[in-house]
Amino acid sequence: MSGIRIVKRSYLQELERFIEEAEYPSHCIHCEGIKDIDEPVHHPSYEITPACNLRCIFCYSHSALMAGKAPKPGYYGEMNPKAITISQYGEPLVAGHEKLECIISKLRRKFGARIDLQTNGTLLREEVKADMVMISLDAANRESYKRLAGVDAFEDVLRGMEIVASSNSRGIVRTVYLPGINEAEIPEIAKISFKIGMDEFMLQPCSIHPGIGENLAREGYDFGKNTLYDFLDIAYKAEARVPGCILKNVRRMMEVMDFEEVIFMRRNPVSLKPPEIRREWQFVLDC
Ligand code: SF4
Repeated sequence: MSGIRIVKRSYLQELERFIEEAEYPSHCIHCEGIKDIDEPVHHPSYEITPACNLRCIFCYSHSALMAGKAPKPGYYGEMNPKAITISQYGEPLVAGHEKLECIISKLRRKFGARIDLQTNGTLLREEVKADMVMISLDAANRESYKRLAGVDAFEDVLRGMEIVASSNSRGIVRTVYLPGINEAEIPEIAKISFKIGMDEFMLQPCSIHPGIGENLAREGYDFGKNTLYDFLDIAYKAEARVPGCILKNVRRMMEVMDFEEVIFMRRNPVSLKPPEIRREWQFVLDC
């Protein structure tokens, strides 16, 4: 469990500069999360399947599936999007490369929007024609990966990253911050990603939905390590980009509060409800 922490003022000043100067992750550009909107929602998305070939211990998609709240396939959002995420739930490549490419090219023809693929990377076998490919990696070695993802596929993710790094897509690695579980590995995950040639490393906090807390507790998740400081300290050390909506809110608070008050605020990561898609279903593509 976390106790009282003594942090040097000079280090807090470094963190403050980091927040002031940090760039938004490329994926966050055009998202409502970085705009002055009261209740922002994530980008429009195209959902292919809620199914996944992994069993990550913190998976919100799994929580939605268990609660019968996983979205049906199709496009969710307004009809003039600037960026579309494929997808918020499940692993898109479970449906195969051919289907994915068909969906990407039809979405492009229909909307001309930026296409961001969100994948665990394990099933990537060839270049994907998305503008951004965001690969999830939450461990820095084979054993930890197997423990967190439930499948021995660390090497497959690295191969997927190599394919993306040599493609025309912007390559982004996304890691979920799991205090007490993977925090010591996060700087190493960033190093591995940049060494392979990925363009960006993004660190995200974990939201704990029903059915997930027990898994995390079993693996040693530190529920007491939940201040902004805990998260931003690791993000800074790993040279990670911080989610745009977090950056935007922290900067807003810094306008009216001292940084030292802001940085030691606590975030409750536990959600009592399963995740739900917050945009309207519009259509499904024939692919
Ligand atoms: S992290 Fe926040 S700002 Fe970035 S895409 Fe997601 S919801 Fe939007």
